[in-house]
Amino acid sequence: MDGSALPEVRSTCPYCGVGCGVLLRADAAGGIAVRGDPDHPANFGRLCSKGAALGETVGLEGRLLAPVVNGVETGWDRALDLVAGKFSAAIAEHGPDSVAFYVSGQLLTEDYYVANKLMKGFIGSANIDTNSRLCMASSVAGHKRAFGSDTVPGTYEDLDEADLVVLVGSNLAWCHPVLYQRILAARAKRGTKLVVIDPRRTASCDGAELHLPIRPGGDVVLFNRLLAEIEARDATDADFLTHVSGAEAAFAAARMQDTGPTGLSEAMISAFADLWLSHDRVVTIYSQGVNQSSAGSDKVNAILNCHLATGRIGKPGCGPFSVTGQPNAMGGREVGGLANMLACHLDIENPDHRMAVAEFWSAPTMPTQPGLKAVDMFRAVADGQIKALWIIHTNPAVTMPDADAVRDAIAACPFTVVSDITAETDTARLADVLLPATAWGEKDGSVTNSDRTISRQRAVRPMPGQARPDWQALAEVGQRMGWHAAFDYAGPAEIFRDYAALSGIAAGFGRDFDISGLKDLGEADYAGLEPFRWPLSASRQGGRFFGDGRFFHPDGKARMLALEHRPPVARTGAKYPFRLNTGRIRDQWHTMTRTGLSPRLSAHLAEPFLDIHPADARAQGIAAASLIRLRSPEGSAILRARITDEVQKGEVFAPMHWTGETAPSARIDALIAGVTDPVSGQPESKAAVVALAPFAAAWYGFAVSSGPMQPQAEYWARARTGTGWRAELAGRDAVEDWEAEARRLFALPEAEVQSVVDRARGAARLAFHSGGHLLAALYVSREPVPVMREYLTTLPGDTAGDALTGRSAADRPDPGPMVCACLGVGLNTIVGAIETEGLMSVEAIGAALGAGTNCGSCRSEIAEVLARVRPREAAE
Ligand code: SF4
Repeated sequence: MDGSALPEVRSTCPYCGVGCGVLLRADAAGGIAVRGDPDHPANFGRLCSKGAALGETVGLEGRLLAPVVNGVETGWDRALDLVAGKFSAAIAEHGPDSVAFYVSGQLLTEDYYVANKLMKGFIGSANIDTNSRLCMASSVAGHKRAFGSDTVPGTYEDLDEADLVVLVGSNLAWCHPVLYQRILAARAKRGTKLVVIDPRRTASCDGAELHLPIRPGGDVVLFNRLLAEIEARDATDADFLTHVSGAEAAFAAARMQDTGPTGLSEAMISAFADLWLSHDRVVTIYSQGVNQSSAGSDKVNAILNCHLATGRIGKPGCGPFSVTGQPNAMGGREVGGLANMLACHLDIENPDHRMAVAEFWSAPTMPTQPGLKAVDMFRAVADGQIKALWIIHTNPAVTMPDADAVRDAIAACPFTVVSDITAETDTARLADVLLPATAWGEKDGSVTNSDRTISRQRAVRPMPGQARPDWQALAEVGQRMGWHAAFDYAGPAEIFRDYAALSGIAAGFGRDFDISGLKDLGEADYAGLEPFRWPLSASRQGGRFFGDGRFFHPDGKARMLALEHRPPVARTGAKYPFRLNTGRIRDQWHTMTRTGLSPRLSAHLAEPFLDIHPADARAQGIAAASLIRLRSPEGSAILRARITDEVQKGEVFAPMHWTGETAPSARIDALIAGVTDPVSGQPESKAAVVALAPFAAAWYGFAVSSGPMQPQAEYWARARTGTGWRAELAGRDAVEDWEAEARRLFALPEAEVQSVVDRARGAARLAFHSGGHLLAALYVSREPVPVMREYLTTLPGDTAGDALTGRSAADRPDPGPMVCACLGVGLNTIVGAIETEGLMSVEAIGAALGAGTNCGSCRSEIAEVLARVRPREAAE
């Protein structure tokens, strides 16, 4: 059959919590063509660079295709018997709390449901937590404290209808690009104003009315001050406050506020309050910059206080809005994936709730207390309390705070199971048992996005090898542990019906989450289920919450909280003078196990880096593009210096994506302390303290190769290219024989070599060929290597004879680092067009080169390039 004749399948993007709809068409060669679903309410056809490149990440290279026990491939029966036996033995000998599941916002809701049912209802422990704990647990805690439930009040339509959008701790332009584009569209249509509150000047600040470069940890103070202004300017909504308790105490605490910890001028704070109070339709979007803090829950409640006090909630165009990092972080919250919740927003400590769930599941046992949250879970693994651990679709050896200690704890755990699509992760390499999971394009189930829209994820490719869905692996272990009937599911539709029916019971307790209208959904209806926003019951469908003043606390009221400033736990000082912020970059996702497969996504920022202010770089003797060694009390890293005033003095920023597989010295969470918010248990991932020093490299290297490389240098970082791989290298020890070193690096013991080696200057260039085709090339220098990297990445496999020069031929200009990943337009191309064609706007560049005209994620970077190049031109 001709691949183009295959029907398109409606599914969802597996990356961020925007939850964009995608249309997928499989081809006969194993690929998938991807386009945005014009009918999906989250994106109406738009995709960002990551979503647009999904088709480049579905190949079987590196896939785990069979169960592996102690390094040896085996069949499912043996692997599952072993898992069930080890878990049963640990429970029998040490009790149910001696085992744990650490799961992920990558799980589909049906997978989550079975995992949660197995652990909480049958094993009898609440030791199941999810990596969403690292992402938005503080929002959950804040919602529950204010609303009595973990309810997102608003919808994405509010972004279209707002007059003012405030981004707090959210680089939406890079981390939720389609939502950012939605705001820009509203801005063009109705003049929506934008305020960004962030210690860094990010891509989201482009065109904002106001950027408040707040000091890390200052958010409670800022929103307390706003609350005081609300009171002082008589801007409260007296009617709405009849539905709110705690207002007086909250106002009193806010009145006391000293704004010093914000680091902001009075003029800036007043300008913010003026904007906030002069617009009724205000949406405050917040994300990891708020949540990942030892005061994250208080920060969330400080924001909610302001919306409650003014009644700016549950109405068109206004409300607080937590955007989630992962595709199904919300589904995990709803289904009870967190250690402190039961399914369907029922409470673990509530005996009536527990009894209802136990009855529904015919569960033999239920835990009466919350289980171990992520940080405590891995401490319990390290202490030897956890004897059997099952990690599903996540990479805690990289992403947990104090990552080196977590890695060592997993390695020492008596029995560790890892379910994943690849064995090539830092965590999978530590497993006793590896279970091959289905990947995104093979999965069938549902996910919930940030605005409560539940969408189907549908398989478009067959399951390869022995790969199986996670719900099935979990259910089979449950059956092997003796609970046959409870885990005898025929498929995801049956699990979904179970879940929907349980939500109806939860609604009977007055809970918000109710999809009981779907409890009798047939197979065909489940297969064709359209995206819908919960709740969906006989009495209610979708919409906003709380506009009617009805909340989920027993008295039906919301709560405002009296809040005080708590600074980040770690203090800077003489030993660790810098504050380290961590976060995402535009074109990578989590630990790059999928986005890292795409050459064009890898071309945007191909190497880990540290952003440092020019004054700090000067003071520390750090040159542009050199390497920096960072040390914190927990660990150390080596990163490339990017000197920029986007960060403030005394603060540095590093991305969180690189791993032992891609850049072992850049595992940034190894530097983060396991300090958590006392309410939410979420780690403080954005306020570590570090010391910096130049990394005294004796040599720097850059390499390209058509095959995988085996770097052994003290610093290395590798990335995919369209022709193979590229790598940055550096070391402190002199290398005597560069040809021998290059042959080892490239695993090319016999290939023809051309080389130029200048020992006196510490420089070497080597190119390896076969049959006239370039296989690999290495460029070495005492300084950061000055070669045309993007051009060189095109050469492996080519017959080009000029690889040794490191420079492009006149007819093949170097495009420079990728700016527009969708259209493949590099920095040098854009700068050239500005200089030679006199382009004066982002739109003109788009018209000339196409850059920025597809997903729009790079438009702010193009604007930055324009801002840099135009004044330079004017001065010449
Ligand atoms: Fe995927 Fe991008 Fe949409 Fe997020 S914004 S769901 S990463 S396409």
